[in-house]
Amino acid sequence: MDTIDLRSDTVTRPTPAMYEAMACAELGDDVLGDDPTVRRLEEKAARLLGKEAGLLTASGTMSNLVAMLAHCQRGDEVIVSSEAHILHHEVGGAFAMGGLGLRTIPNDEQGRLDPAALAAAIRPRSPYHPPTGLVCLENTHNRCGGTVLTEQDTAAAAAVAHRHRVPVHLDGARIFNAAVALGVPAERLARPADSVCFSLSKGLSCPIGSVLCGSREFIDRARHFRKMVGGGMRQAGIIAACGLVALDAMVERLAEDHENARLLAEGLATLPGVRLSPPPQTNIVYFTVDGWDAADLVRRCSQAGVLCLTEGRRVRMVTHRHIGRPQVEEAVERLRRVLAAHA
Ligand SMILES: *Cc1c(COP(=O)(O)O)cnc(C)c1O
Repeated sequence: MDTIDLRSDTVTRPTPAMYEAMACAELGDDVLGDDPTVRRLEEKAARLLGKEAGLLTASGTMSNLVAMLAHCQRGDEVIVSSEAHILHHEVGGAFAMGGLGLRTIPNDEQGRLDPAALAAAIRPRSPYHPPTGLVCLENTHNRCGGTVLTEQDTAAAAAVAHRHRVPVHLDGARIFNAAVALGVPAERLARPADSVCFSLSKGLSCPIGSVLCGSREFIDRARHFRKMVGGGMRQAGIIAACGLVALDAMVERLAEDHENARLLAEGLATLPGVRLSPPPQTNIVYFTVDGWDAADLVRRCSQAGVLCLTEGRRVRMVTHRHIGRPQVEEAVERLRRVLAAHA
């Protein structure tokens, strides 16, 4: 069997239907506002997420950045969870590009914010404090292990923010994984938030893209900032065509990735010294192995034909469309041999 790539669901390549859709896509110039395929994707995404309007961006990072820019003023503070992707993996764009401070609240193991802690972190309006401009939530929560926030979890935090007249942005890069895992429409999970973004380029298998959704007025502002950060794309219908296929055909199948992540975790649990942290709820598996440095182990795995990544002191494996049951079983066997060879 070939190399088994468990680094990320972002390694997924376009489906045959996506190549076909790209070849046939009706195109315009999206910066001039007349790419019909982009419009269709933005409208469809907004409908699915229960918002008025959508905006195609180049990446999840760009969606989160333009969302923060559109919600906030320079000098504002954005509240994020202590393990937030926005804090750890987006190059400090909020600070550097937005002049925004990130204030963290410890999230629980599920990635939730405690409503009381959130209420305490929102600043009173005064001449001394940085204004709290935005609260960001994340679903699924990446560094917590692809954990799922329910509609109630999001609503509890959003109620606190809204009581203080602070808007809420939901980083839903993998919100469809959460929706499939919970068996509820993504629209319900996004309902308490003022804006939400999701990735096309992860488990949904598109080559590029994310869509940010919110009110029409918010999306107009976000469009302005997207152009400012260089994200105005011309015949972007090429990308949007894949996104339309993804929203029609690639959402329900995420359940297979979740099932394979469960199988992978079960297999890993049979290996000596493996500690899963925590058992997977969607398609992300984190673990440590007693006596092993994570970076060492990832190197050995790569030599044995299993690609994965470190996340701090943990090893991270992500299931996706190119990983079936045979790949899961083979990955566990290869890891078993790696551990045995270096016992
Ligand atoms: C992947 C991810 C992003 C960023 O998406 P990119 O397309 O890689 O920029 C943002 N938030 C979360 C939670 C993610 O998992």
